[in-house]
Amino acid sequence: MHTCDTLVRADWIVTQNDTRDVIQDGAVAIQGGVIAAVGPFADISANWSAPETIDLGPSLLLPGLVNAHTHAPMTLMRGLADDLPLMQWLTDHIFPVEQKLTPELVRLSALLGCCEMLRTGTTCFYDMYLMEEAVADAVRETGMRARIGEVIFSFPTPAYADENAAFDVVRRMHAASADTPRIRTAVMPHALYTTSPQLLTRAHELAQELDIPLHIHLAETETETAQSLEKFGKRPVAYLDSLGLLTPTTLAAHCVDLTDDEVATLARTGAHVAHNPESNMKLASGIARVRDMQAAGVSLGLGTDGACSNNNLDMFAEMASCAMLQKVATLDPTAAPAQQVLDMATRGGAACLQWEEIGSIAPGKAADLTALDLDQPGLMPIYNPISHAVYAAGGGDVRFTMVDGHVLYRDGAFLTVDYPALCAEVRDAAEWIRKQTGAEAANK
Ligand SMILES: [Zn+2]
Repeated sequence: MHTCDTLVRADWIVTQNDTRDVIQDGAVAIQGGVIAAVGPFADISANWSAPETIDLGPSLLLPGLVNAHTHAPMTLMRGLADDLPLMQWLTDHIFPVEQKLTPELVRLSALLGCCEMLRTGTTCFYDMYLMEEAVADAVRETGMRARIGEVIFSFPTPAYADENAAFDVVRRMHAASADTPRIRTAVMPHALYTTSPQLLTRAHELAQELDIPLHIHLAETETETAQSLEKFGKRPVAYLDSLGLLTPTTLAAHCVDLTDDEVATLARTGAHVAHNPESNMKLASGIARVRDMQAAGVSLGLGTDGACSNNNLDMFAEMASCAMLQKVATLDPTAAPAQQVLDMATRGGAACLQWEEIGSIAPGKAADLTALDLDQPGLMPIYNPISHAVYAAGGGDVRFTMVDGHVLYRDGAFLTVDYPALCAEVRDAAEWIRKQTGAEAANK
């Protein structure tokens, strides 16, 4: 008999391991935040004893979902402006608020984002924003896992006066994250249309020097492609490749407007792609060629993008949208099947984040887990748990989320956050934003 810290038991376990095993009446043995064993409850309980058993009963246990591209602090601007073209939306509504951001506002909205993610089954996220050190504080406080990075523009922001100062922030964040294994960093130039070739090259060099990944928005719209052709004489993917920035540690968010050659380039370079179907739909950016990228062997993850262009951080909803959008785009109901989409939201996300220890329930992996409540009417009956995870479930069906062996959310309660106090602070901050934007007058 072995001993461990915790046993988690559930009616169904979707492991997402290499053979995609699904276990009925299963259990996971957890020791020191790491999965020691997984299997049928009868086998696990015969071999492992623990002071604590969390028996989830009629639940579907999954590896925690991985949000491969988001901007967690944008929760504070959720619903502030919708139904507008991307550039008008950004310049008239989002950038004016962002010009007045403070670290305290960023921390508060990142805390809200973390709560929403835990509530909807996400345990790890790849986050790009201004004043990202405040996001690190929220990640530390909540107990989540994240790869974070200060977004770098060629122009001044409230977070830094110039490019040099922005790169200093990246170095400082990287050094500060060394003592928290749940937090890793990346270098994050915003996009081709908000940076210079010199900045991009410098970002690549810093990523190599610090041995961390690089994360950038790429090929999001046809407008971006037109600008890239005009300025650089190349389409976005070809241009970034010519600068040497597409590597196996690069994550490109969006990749909507791609030619066949560009799909092949992404596959050849080993760069990863974060697909954001709901944001792409809402901003009318277009439909990423997920089926073609999958066929070409491109490494794919799934993300929500920020809460302003989605308008939620619910990865269960994102999975359904991903599958549906590919089917309607290709007029092929076999496109983006449930297992492939679940792979994108788990193992694929782990690859995008360069985080080997997450993405499946298997011995040696981090104990990052989430569970759906199978007593919910919308999840009954159950024949195929993978179908349910992708097509039937919403984040509101989540009843349990664990990171690193610690329960962070269970049956309505956030265990690391004073949620009522957070709500009060968020309401106060929203009042302030209303005043800044004149939304108060507009709403009357
Ligand atoms: Zn984005």
